[in-house]
Amino acid sequence: MMTTTEEHKEIWEFLTEVPDPEIPVINLVELGVVRAVDVTEDGTLKITITPTYTGCPAKKLFEDLIHEKLVEKGFEKIEIESVLSPAWTTDWLSEETLQKMMDEGISPPTDGDKVIQCPNCKSKDTKLVSQFGSTPCQSLYTCNECKEPFNYFKCHR
Ligand SMILES: [Zn+2]
Repeated sequence: MMTTTEEHKEIWEFLTEVPDPEIPVINLVELGVVRAVDVTEDGTLKITITPTYTGCPAKKLFEDLIHEKLVEKGFEKIEIESVLSPAWTTDWLSEETLQKMMDEGISPPTDGDKVIQCPNCKSKDTKLVSQFGSTPCQSLYTCNECKEPFNYFKCHR
């Protein structure tokens, strides 16, 4: 089975319909989880993913969600492979994705976790409350300006 660039493009588009279970406004392609799309000679659709944080419980969930979406789109032979190298990094997130996080009330990762901006009032006068927020990928902060607590998506590389 020959694959054209068109087909690949379509599959990538389908995958943008799979939301990140933790931040549903961001899809798995934007998150950088989906690394490659291939179709083998026997017509098997092969998706290569890189899980986010090592030990992140989302790995199995990512695979299930991708599988489910592709079945829904009419694919039958699907193979999903998780690769750990190169390791996922928050550097793969685009400016647009970081902005989406901010709009969702999650402070996006910054270089070295140094300046953490409050997603509510945009103040940079914030304080760490707990290393672990609602998920292991996030930590809990509070804003010294508006006094609102918020989650910060930790820098990871
Ligand atoms: Zn604030």
